[in-house]
Amino acid sequence: MQVFKFGGASVKDAESVKNVASIIAKYRKDELLVVVSAMGKTTDRLMEVTNNYIEQTGQAFILLDAVKSWHQAILNQLFPEVKHPIYDEIANCFVEVEWILEEEPQDTYDYLFDQIVSLGEIVSSKILTAYAKQEELPVKWVDARDFIFTDNTYREAAVDWEKTEEKIRRDLPAILDREVIITQGFIGSTSENFTTTLGREGSDYSAAIFASCLNAEEITIWKDVPGVLNADPKWFDHTELIPELSYTDAIELTYYGATVIHPKTIKPLQNKKIALNVRSFLNPASPGTFIRSTNNGLPVPSFIFKVKQVLISIQPRDFSFIVEDNLSHIFNLFHHNRIKINMMHNSAISFFVSIDDTGKNVDALLEELEKRYKVTVEKGLELITIRYFNQETIDRVLVNKEIIRELKDGYTCQLLVRKL
Ligand code: ASP
Ligand code: MG
Repeated sequence: MQVFKFGGASVKDAESVKNVASIIAKYRKDELLVVVSAMGKTTDRLMEVTNNYIEQTGQAFILLDAVKSWHQAILNQLFPEVKHPIYDEIANCFVEVEWILEEEPQDTYDYLFDQIVSLGEIVSSKILTAYAKQEELPVKWVDARDFIFTDNTYREAAVDWEKTEEKIRRDLPAILDREVIITQGFIGSTSENFTTTLGREGSDYSAAIFASCLNAEEITIWKDVPGVLNADPKWFDHTELIPELSYTDAIELTYYGATVIHPKTIKPLQNKKIALNVRSFLNPASPGTFIRSTNNGLPVPSFIFKVKQVLISIQPRDFSFIVEDNLSHIFNLFHHNRIKINMMHNSAISFFVSIDDTGKNVDALLEELEKRYKVTVEKGLELITIRYFNQETIDRVLVNKEIIRELKDGYTCQLLVRKL
């Protein structure tokens, strides 16, 4: 059996929904489970709804209405029959969020975020299912929250693998014998039936969870790029497609910030030796990239750029050493403020980290650090990671830049740079 994942860009308008259905049609005879994300930028829009609701700005309903009309316009293009049941079905999904917005916010931000933002995936999966049925494809809508069980860490829920695997194995194979399953990425459920989400861009991870529990042969992530490239075309004119990658290289690249696949996706696939194919929904005939156990192929140098980096240097106020108890306190503060460290380095009396400049939570972190340490901050830096580096690749990225910190480890080199 195989698992397909379609992200937001692959269902961003009526035409793209049709394209996804045409891809499913080609594989309709296979055992296939399809995971779909929210349409286009819906998750961001619903996040704005949540923020406005929490801050009680009076805009939440207006913003939700805009999301609703946007989906409505897509429905109008896909379903000419005005009495098609999908119209009511989608309207009812929105009503559930309207009910939340009518009350004053009582619960935590993270909890409310998950209850509101999950609407995007519910709606997109229902629209895709209804359209595929209209095209006479044998599809069945499945609620991922009945299968992916998590703890209650809202917005970043951890999967209860045992329970999830048991339920998926018990119920899904019989359906897959007859129909293509369409379900949601990104969402799961607590044991008390509250909706959780698995972290932003988490639909890839959902696909990996289903694939792992079903012992899939292969998973395909359909994207608007030809596959895994050796750099983001946003930064480089001449990018190369990498036809085959080992699991380890894929894990390394995503760990250092390659955004082509969610970092949590690869490990469960590697454990079960399930191949991951990343290919283009715009050009379904071209094979893209295969991530699998491989010793083939010469390593292609890959580049990962992260802009808006903040370098934080931390020293104990009394200039004592940076020792384990300091480090554990520092790491706790990062964890507690949900800040991911992109690069770190420690010397006897200082600890250096580079992080994304995400605004509010960085300010909160700095405030807490300053209570106990001497802290200096430099913003506006760039972090460049090169996998399979050599001097030539380093020189290539350093034009008009100066190195502030450099770290080489095995095949990977990280350069924190300042623009000249
Ligand atoms: N829709 C969710 C997000 O944008 C999940 C995903 O796209 O993978 O974060
Ligand atoms: Mg998305």
